[in-house]
Amino acid sequence: MANSNLSENTADIKNQEKYTSRVRTILEKMPFAPKYYIATFGCQQNEADSERLSGTAQSLGYVKAENLEDADLIIFNTCAVREHAELRALSKTGQLKHLKEKNKNLLIGLWGCMVSQEKRVEDIKHKYPYVDFVAGTNMLHRLPEILCDCLENDRRRYYVDELDYSIVEGVPVEREDKIKAYVSIMYGCDNFCTYCVVPYVRGRERSRKKEDILNEVRSLVSDGYKEITLLGQNVNSYGKKGEENCDFATLVEEICKIDGDFTLRFMTSHPKDVSDRLIEVIKNNPKVERHFHLPVQSGSTRILKEMNRKYSREGYLETVKKLKSAIPDIVLTTDIIVGFPGETNEDFEETLSLVKEVGYDSVFSFIYSPRPGTPASKMEDDTGDGEKTERMSKLLSLHRENITAINKSYVGKTVRVLCEKGADEKGFFTGRTSGFKLVKFQSQKGDIIGKYVDVKIDSFGESLLRGKTE
Ligand code: SAH
Ligand code: SF4
Repeated sequence: MANSNLSENTADIKNQEKYTSRVRTILEKMPFAPKYYIATFGCQQNEADSERLSGTAQSLGYVKAENLEDADLIIFNTCAVREHAELRALSKTGQLKHLKEKNKNLLIGLWGCMVSQEKRVEDIKHKYPYVDFVAGTNMLHRLPEILCDCLENDRRRYYVDELDYSIVEGVPVEREDKIKAYVSIMYGCDNFCTYCVVPYVRGRERSRKKEDILNEVRSLVSDGYKEITLLGQNVNSYGKKGEENCDFATLVEEICKIDGDFTLRFMTSHPKDVSDRLIEVIKNNPKVERHFHLPVQSGSTRILKEMNRKYSREGYLETVKKLKSAIPDIVLTTDIIVGFPGETNEDFEETLSLVKEVGYDSVFSFIYSPRPGTPASKMEDDTGDGEKTERMSKLLSLHRENITAINKSYVGKTVRVLCEKGADEKGFFTGRTSGFKLVKFQSQKGDIIGKYVDVKIDSFGESLLRGKTE
């Protein structure tokens, strides 16, 4: 982890050192090395946060548990974007009660977006008395302090309203993967799409210092990482507040100047912030992979306005046109919300026609889920659940038609693939193309994990291509 150019919040992480040594002293007295288990719900940002929770747990003396049952510290890093994600985390939390009865030393914590909402914290206080601590997204660097409090004082802790929207560098990190790495470049979101809870649970948008990001990427590349994914709720508004005198296009350009054999991805981009210069930078830098995730949410300008997305159907399609003409091999993917309050059949037909026109490789579609405290949750919604499910299946079958035609066009072609995983029981390796398409393939070549190989495609499924190395 880059430590050379720490932000003004160095004091914060320094402050944790005394707690770290107090926790270590307690844990060292245990007859066996205590184990931790972290389960992640939700997006890549949460996965990246969990890698930091994991790194911190290790720095305190915990070792990774193979499964939940063996753990002395369990943390669920939760999501709040849809109700379903919250219910899943709560149901899994319910299943932890018996573990607490078996292991009296077990500490259970709920982390992240779901417990950055006061109402959920109240639920947990009353319905899940065996949860030892809850902490919101902005507490990431304070795990030592929280655990110290739980271990020394044997009391429940709720760190929710101590919202601190700063950026803290230098938190230890234990990465899940040895080939691909996430690098957060900004936190929070200022867009306030009317359906979305993220600005309320992750706070205001703020960008990391350019030098901190460049240092982190440099150190990952020198450690042999092959693929870096820049993360943020709205990556392409990086530096918008003038923090760094550097916008996203410039940041990408500077990262590409770093020597080494690596490639770059980023997500998520907001359509309103795709500048012509960003398109030029991608076009001119072969290190940037040919994949653009560009959530459209709806094909109806009227609904986009209600969603506060700040672009129209026409504006979005214009951006897609520019991207495709500058970078003909670009692969586009998107997110769509079905059944936003007031969405009529005509609005939905516009979504279908947009999906048809763009020809996405993946469509992540979600039925609208009202989120407490958001403007959309107060809007009138008279579309029945049955109708929403029907719209969803229409969207999925249209996408299926599109993707069949797209995937068919790969048959007989050779694609470059970064091999991520070794052969499964049927002898198939797993990798991704530059456009992020999943490829399962056979190969007689020796050591190919973490390397680029050319794969000739011979068949396909709905969400993958199949082939052999040449
Ligand atoms: N910052 C990213 C991702 C936000 S959450 C972006 O702006 O694209 C990921 C996706 O979840 C969103 O793109 C949206 O499609 C979906 N989503 C967010 N809130 C939702 C809600 N209340 N109901 C259903 N889907 C939602
Ligand atoms: Fe939510 Fe919109 Fe921000 Fe994405 S851009 S996180 S959808 S408010």
